[in-house]
Amino acid sequence: MALGNLCIEIFGQMPYSVPVYLFTLKNTNGMRVQLTNYGARIVSSQVPDRAGSFDEVVLGYTCLDQYLKGHQYLGATIGRVTNRIGNGRFDLDGQTYFLPKNLGNHHLHGGNIGFESNLWDVVNYNDEVIPWVEFQLTSSHGDQGYPGNLISKVRYSLNGDNSIEINLSAISDRSTIVNLTNHAYFNLSGALDDNIYKHQAQFYASNFLKVDRDLVPNGDIQKVEGTVMDFRQPSEVGLGINQKVDPVEKTKGYDQFLIADSYLKGEVQKMAEIYEPESGRVLEVASTLPGFQFYTSNFLDTEFPAINGKICRRHSSLCIEPSYFVDAPNHPNFQSIQLDRGDIYNETIIYKFSTR
Ligand code: BGC
Repeated sequence: MALGNLCIEIFGQMPYSVPVYLFTLKNTNGMRVQLTNYGARIVSSQVPDRAGSFDEVVLGYTCLDQYLKGHQYLGATIGRVTNRIGNGRFDLDGQTYFLPKNLGNHHLHGGNIGFESNLWDVVNYNDEVIPWVEFQLTSSHGDQGYPGNLISKVRYSLNGDNSIEINLSAISDRSTIVNLTNHAYFNLSGALDDNIYKHQAQFYASNFLKVDRDLVPNGDIQKVEGTVMDFRQPSEVGLGINQKVDPVEKTKGYDQFLIADSYLKGEVQKMAEIYEPESGRVLEVASTLPGFQFYTSNFLDTEFPAINGKICRRHSSLCIEPSYFVDAPNHPNFQSIQLDRGDIYNETIIYKFSTR
């Protein structure tokens, strides 16, 4: 069904013939973004290079069945809590909660069946100048070990300035923890099977979280100065990614949480800019959140088909995943991710594309 700036198609079927939808949003510049309610995820984003030619810049699959076989969180909404929770446990209001350990001894990205593997309801959409679609998921009390019936909403809008705006909200009927993000993998060159070594990154971040060998924070905050994490001035991602130094050696690339310098609660602040010199494409990431995981697809080792039949490998893309600090419930010095009964979690992530 094609409406003004929005098109709705069937993307595939879940078991029991439940339909899954694919939404195509377009703006007056010709930019197109595709979204599905399976995992409330970004499937595709086609943006112009400096000569005006459009290419795919996000890793995704062309049909639902491929996502159902396994998807490395491609483009998905991650919840209830992104990244690691050390030893799969946390305390809240005097009670200890135990979560599934789906990564060695730890809990990753909300558990075995996180938000990325849920079929979200389509609650609303709009086909006007700024098209948007809104997905909603009810995660019941005890889902993946977390307390509280939690209703989460994700709204994706395609703005006139070629930005994808993601509004994340949640409310619970009892005290719980929430830390959502988006897990899009970007390669701005338009060649999704190429590596991202020539991409230049600039991060407005002077500090990052120190982690143990399992990438669980130990509570310390480290300066980027003098390390391969220093992107305060634009720097090629390929310079540090394969170095035999901490913290990239053990993770075979970047997989670190940087703390945004400009964080101001409730305000959208720019935290990162990525530039790909050949195409001229620029990705700016802004958010209300206090930092982001910088991850260079280190675990896309096994070849897997991506969009347009191109094979994407390790280091073929990068993720900037804005969120609260990793493992926050286990570190009293990190900002709390507790959401009390009836309070509203409300955060924004913006991925803006341009050229220079
Ligand atoms: C994490 C990685 C993890 C990856 C999975 C990232 O957010 O930081 O450690 O392997 O997600 O796709």
